[in-house]
Amino acid sequence: TFKALLATNDGEKISTNLVELDDTDLMPGDVTIAVDYSTVNYKDGMALTGRAEIIQKFPLIPGVDLSGTVEASSYPGIEVGDRVVANSWGLSQTHHGGYAQKARLSGDWLVKIPEPLSTRDAMALGTAGYTAMLCVLALEQGGITPDRGDILVTGANGGVGSVAIVLLSDLGYRVVASTGRLEEADYLRELGAADVIDRRTLSEPGKPITGERWAGAVDSVGSHTLANVLAQTQYRGVVAACGLAQGLDLPATVLPFILRNVTLAGIDSVNAPQAVRIEAWSRLARDLDLEKLARTTKVVGLAAVPDIARQILEGKVQGRTVVDVNS
Ligand code: NAP
Repeated sequence: TFKALLATNDGEKISTNLVELDDTDLMPGDVTIAVDYSTVNYKDGMALTGRAEIIQKFPLIPGVDLSGTVEASSYPGIEVGDRVVANSWGLSQTHHGGYAQKARLSGDWLVKIPEPLSTRDAMALGTAGYTAMLCVLALEQGGITPDRGDILVTGANGGVGSVAIVLLSDLGYRVVASTGRLEEADYLRELGAADVIDRRTLSEPGKPITGERWAGAVDSVGSHTLANVLAQTQYRGVVAACGLAQGLDLPATVLPFILRNVTLAGIDSVNAPQAVRIEAWSRLARDLDLEKLARTTKVVGLAAVPDIARQILEGKVQGRTVVDVNS
């Protein structure tokens, strides 16, 4: 048997319970994994609380991410003993996810964890960290080199934001962090932010176009914040948009696009093609300062997940939370 957090729905609300399951409870798949770690992303918060209809069938083991070691495989190229990571696809939507000691899933969903990353590092990154890398890749593909100017990171204390600050600063960019938690400015500077600004300067309705401030931006917030970031982006700048922590609306005009040639780069991690995932994970392995990553990370057990899921939606979680499913 193995331990799992199982989500059920009584028609009104979602409940989660720690249960013992056995191999007959696993879903179909060609790879079986002894899970080491999972994590809590904003999407996990939405799934467990029912804020968004992420889980599409019940009962289901939630957790959009997992890392571990392959126990059995009939998938070409994936061998017993391989260390693997899975991010999203159907996990926690239609397929059992990472909040369990065991998982069985399609080898199509797996990326081999590149050296020197451990299975724990892979979940200290998780979907949030891998999405931060997708945002960095979008800036690079848009020609934004460090000499172009400042890069703004919104939602700076969050998972995507924290990892984006570490990655960009280590790549030589000057990073400005926008946060509602100015008391955490020292933490953000330790990660690599050169400057920290109050998110309230971005969160209210603003002018459709204004002074050119940012060469690029990584935005996990959306809504008025994203509209203001676009309005402040320099000529031929690139804004990578991946999140909706403020809201899913975008009350903007076309002026930044038609007057300043600004690019709004959409970022989706869930259905990103395998080649893109492999590139992102290999760049994370190459570029990331693992000591700084450790500074963004807390480790908890499965029992703590429901509480953290609630807190992440309230904007109270800092950095990344790793779930040790065996603790
Ligand atoms: P997170 O750890 O909760 O980070 C979100 C951060 O946004 C918070 O820490 C907070 O930072 C800021 N924030 C929260 N509420 C806000 C508000 N009302 N107005 C302005 N800022 C607010 O979550 P995450 O896991 O990093 O995910 C961040 C966002 O990206 C979420 O919307 C998530 O759904 C999205 N996401 C999308 C993808 C994709 O594939 N597109 C992948 C991963 C994540 P401060 O306290 O520093 O202000």
